[in-house]
Amino acid sequence: MSQASWETVDVTIIGGGPVGLFAAFYAGMRGMSARILDSLPELGGQLTALYPEKDVFDMPGFTRITAKQLAKEMAEQGTQFGADLVLGQTAQDLVEQEDGYVITTAEGARLPTRTLIIAAGAGAFTPTRLGVPREAEFEGRGLSYGVLDKAALAGKRVAIVGGGDSAFDWCLNLAPIASEITLIHRRDQFRAHEDSVRQVLASNVKKHLWSVVRELHGDSALEGITVENTQTKTCDRLEVDALVVNVGFKSSLGPIKAWGLTIEKNLIVVDPRFETNRPRVFAVGDVCTFPTKLKLIATGVGEAVTAICFAKTYLDPDAKLFPGHSSDMDLFQTGHS
Ligand SMILES: Cc1cc2nc3c(=O)[nH]c(=O)nc-3n(C[C@H](O)[C@H](O)[C@H](O)COP(=O)(O)OP(=O)(O)OC[C@H]3O[C@@H](n4cnc5c(N)ncnc54)[C@H](O)[C@@H]3O)c2cc1C
Repeated sequence: MSQASWETVDVTIIGGGPVGLFAAFYAGMRGMSARILDSLPELGGQLTALYPEKDVFDMPGFTRITAKQLAKEMAEQGTQFGADLVLGQTAQDLVEQEDGYVITTAEGARLPTRTLIIAAGAGAFTPTRLGVPREAEFEGRGLSYGVLDKAALAGKRVAIVGGGDSAFDWCLNLAPIASEITLIHRRDQFRAHEDSVRQVLASNVKKHLWSVVRELHGDSALEGITVENTQTKTCDRLEVDALVVNVGFKSSLGPIKAWGLTIEKNLIVVDPRFETNRPRVFAVGDVCTFPTKLKLIATGVGEAVTAICFAKTYLDPDAKLFPGHSSDMDLFQTGHS
């Protein structure tokens, strides 16, 4: 159950993608309490949702790193100061208060904050649904979009829908613990990394190719699915305990557009401090626009540093804008000088 009312924090960051994660890290560096809100259940934004297996070559310090490993490192760095995580919830409304704002989520949480950084990328990601009857009824009762709790699938019969990296990653990840895995994909070609495809095809994962899920069965929880082979038009009923759907994401800036911010071509206009037209509200990363904007992680994280430093001056007018060098700080009491 989601906690409905939360404490006030110095900064709330909408978006747990790479730029939002670095904003959370930098907030910690500046001694600010922080909260990250994301509509997805997992941190990483586009890195995790759209291209986990692709190599990224333009990150400082990494000659090459997969997007999912980069997301993992950035999540570790971004949360090490103890930022609150509000995941699986979408920012809906923004109401100004005397000393900041209250964000409410579509799921009913109330999140008071002194400053706000919007790092919402192309907007809130929501999973693409199968579009079959009773889908909403079984969501959270056996049907999920991605895996929230891997351990809960131990010993279970799991069907996985999709032909991309997420579907193949979950086949490989769950193989050691699930009692049976069935992969269902609408074609016989896959968009996943070729090594993952090779491993899954060589494994004992059952495959239903050229197949789609047509029906869901069960009373209070999912007990089975009907799968149709679109070439032969034959249907099979499979007894399963869990159905994991990985057929992509849709994104939408949605409610943020109604927050009174200046928007141009679906992007939030910012000044050189990365502040929007509303005081204490900043926007960074893919969601913001200014004349020299580049949509890259390397530039987005720099924007996040500047925005956090200006947000800090709202909280403490005597605070220096320039934070000093991290190498001169003993942030984690390592004892190094
Ligand atoms: C295939 C592909 C390859 C790429 N390769 C590279 C590369 O090699 N190098 C590079 O620098 N860049 C690359 N990029 C671009 C890079 O991924 C983006 O620039 C980067 O992800 C932007 O980060 P962000 O944190 O601003 O937004 P995102 O990563 O988009 O994260 C935004 C997050 O905000 C959340 N969110 C949005 N609205 C709400 C809301 N209302 N409530 C709650 N949560 C919300 C979303 O769910 C999402 O998780 C690539 C992009 C793609 C698609």
